[in-house]
Amino acid sequence: MSYFDTVSLAPADPILSLTEAFKADKNPEKINLSVGVFVDQSGVTPILETVKEAERRILEASTSKSYLPMTGTPAYASLTQKLCFGEEIAESLQGKVTSLQTPGGTGALRVAADFIAKNTSAQTIWLSNPTWANHKGIFGAPGLKLGTYDYFDSANLSLDYDAFLKSLESIPAGDVVVLHGCCHNPTGVDLTPEQWEDVAKIAAAKKWIPLVDFAYQGFGDGIVEDAAAARIVAKAGLPAFVCQSFSKNLGLYQDRVGALHVITDDASNLANVVSQLKISVRVNYSNPPAHGGAIVTTILSDEKLTEQWHAELKAMRDRIASVRTQFVDALKAAGVEKDFTFLTQQKGMFSFTGLGKEQATALREEHSVYIVDSGRINVAGITDSNIDRVVAAIKAVL
Ligand code: PMP
Repeated sequence: MSYFDTVSLAPADPILSLTEAFKADKNPEKINLSVGVFVDQSGVTPILETVKEAERRILEASTSKSYLPMTGTPAYASLTQKLCFGEEIAESLQGKVTSLQTPGGTGALRVAADFIAKNTSAQTIWLSNPTWANHKGIFGAPGLKLGTYDYFDSANLSLDYDAFLKSLESIPAGDVVVLHGCCHNPTGVDLTPEQWEDVAKIAAAKKWIPLVDFAYQGFGDGIVEDAAAARIVAKAGLPAFVCQSFSKNLGLYQDRVGALHVITDDASNLANVVSQLKISVRVNYSNPPAHGGAIVTTILSDEKLTEQWHAELKAMRDRIASVRTQFVDALKAAGVEKDFTFLTQQKGMFSFTGLGKEQATALREEHSVYIVDSGRINVAGITDSNIDRVVAAIKAVL
């Protein structure tokens, strides 16, 4: 008898277990399109030059590794607000917004989930169907009830806008709706700014609260373009949450750096909101890790470094867009009958290919090409040296 006999084996994470299977695969030509990290043309997840320069400066200037405040530094809060909302809206939000440095976008989501569960009248958290799998775990963890809203039309591999709006119209006042700010994970299907205006109008009329999960700013159409959701919601004067991540757009995956911005609709309750957010931080991780936040602060407070980052981010964005086009062209050239043109309209690293579980299994077992069972691929995983094999494998399983 062991004390831990009561512990049952948890199900493996569906995406991370694919990575394990990929590592164990002995085929030298294996290809991993399942993980959610950017890779460059040579298949590497690079450290940005801008980040290296910021780290050199931090190493030279830093004098202490004492704790950060629970909410991170004021400079980080202010700079990330401006990046997220733009200077003008950020200025107009002063007195109504609070921003915390968090361990990644996941940390921001988890603090928001805790805060919502303990302090608001929300009965249900509404998630996109489909959504990033971890949303369910994060919002379920503090005991929140989960619901789903319609989003994706799997027959046509596109947004089901009418069903989406209908779902949003039926969400009760006080509930929280988790919206993907841009580069929807897993489908790659985004809303236009005009559609975001409709969403904000429904939120205002129905009095539910938007939570914008903003993990891919700059990976879709550009830093400003990708911020439409966050900015439209903020401008509408709604109470709102925005969870920002620097894992992808600065390549700071392992440094765990993100931000939670909470906007109140009444400045008089901001201090209470801050006090409760601090409790959630205190009992979860006490205060955020400093290094990633220092990188972000160093870059965003220096015009030259910011410019250099924008160029490096553009190169990542352009690579993803050009792989999408190359991939569709290569499928056509290989004589694949199914039309994959929709891939060029999807945004960010991920796409739903329309391939099913059986095809995903066949790709993995017969061709050593790893994609998620839902048919999601990480487009960035396709390079000049593996594109022909990916195309041939897809052609074979169709
Ligand atoms: N939200 C979405 C939709 C994501 O895809 C991710 C990363 N996979 C995150 C949040 C969290 O990112 P991180 O915690 O690595 O910053």
